[in-house]
Amino acid sequence: MAVKPKVAFFDFAGCEGDQLQVANLEERLLDLLAHIEVVSFREIKTEHSDDYDIAFVEGSITRPEDEKRLKEIRENAGILVALGACATIGGINCLKNFINESEYRSTVYGSSARWYSTYASRPLSAVVRVDMDIHGCPIDKNEFATAVKELLLGKIYAPPDYPVCTECKMAGNICRYEQGQLCLGIVTRAGCKACCVTEGSFCWGCRGMAPEANLDAAARIMEDHGFTRLNAQDRLRLYFGCTDRAFYPG
Ligand code: SF4
Ligand code: SF4
Ligand code: SF4
Repeated sequence: MAVKPKVAFFDFAGCEGDQLQVANLEERLLDLLAHIEVVSFREIKTEHSDDYDIAFVEGSITRPEDEKRLKEIRENAGILVALGACATIGGINCLKNFINESEYRSTVYGSSARWYSTYASRPLSAVVRVDMDIHGCPIDKNEFATAVKELLLGKIYAPPDYPVCTECKMAGNICRYEQGQLCLGIVTRAGCKACCVTEGSFCWGCRGMAPEANLDAAARIMEDHGFTRLNAQDRLRLYFGCTDRAFYPG
């Protein structure tokens, strides 16, 4: 990799919340800029260049024409990083994959529904090779900084492969199942320090399926606490729509 690698940010279907997290690094961003050259980043600069070493790509692929643009980015970039749940696992855009196309078209675009192309939403990895994932909705800006540092050292950042429950226990939270709530921390990849549970909610699964998740045990816990297959399915579809349709207890 170049001494000061050129970095570009791109977005597909998403809310740009992950790029905002990067912009929100503020003074740490200045430190990073001493080691990278940002040649394209629509949220913070107007100039653009197609000469880059690392591409950070946010958003999911929801239209046939997105594929051509993503493949061009892949071709230009030595390293392509998927940024956030929409890019890494399809994210909430995949909710539309469970709805009749004419219904979501008319809900979103009304009488202009036929003006726009669309197809089943999917993560970047369904179209091109992805070298590194930075998970979350939105991403954690500190994890982003860590991942960039690893890249600068010639390494690929590996996020935790165990479930959120591990971090949740370390944070001293009362398990939401004990409070009669459905929580996806038992199957979701850690790395966020169980922030949603700590803040009073439950885990929605935004970091995707943990490779080491024990799905049989998770299904049993959901059943034992009175949750049905439909309860689990509804919650899982919010983020896991493209990643694991096979896991539904009951
Ligand atoms: S992952 Fe979340 S924050 Fe990032 S683009 Fe998608 S919806 Fe927005
Ligand atoms: S199921 Fe949810 S609330 Fe319970 S320990 Fe795991 S992450 Fe925490
Ligand atoms: S607790 Fe769950 S939903 Fe919240 S940030 Fe972590 S993985 Fe995402």
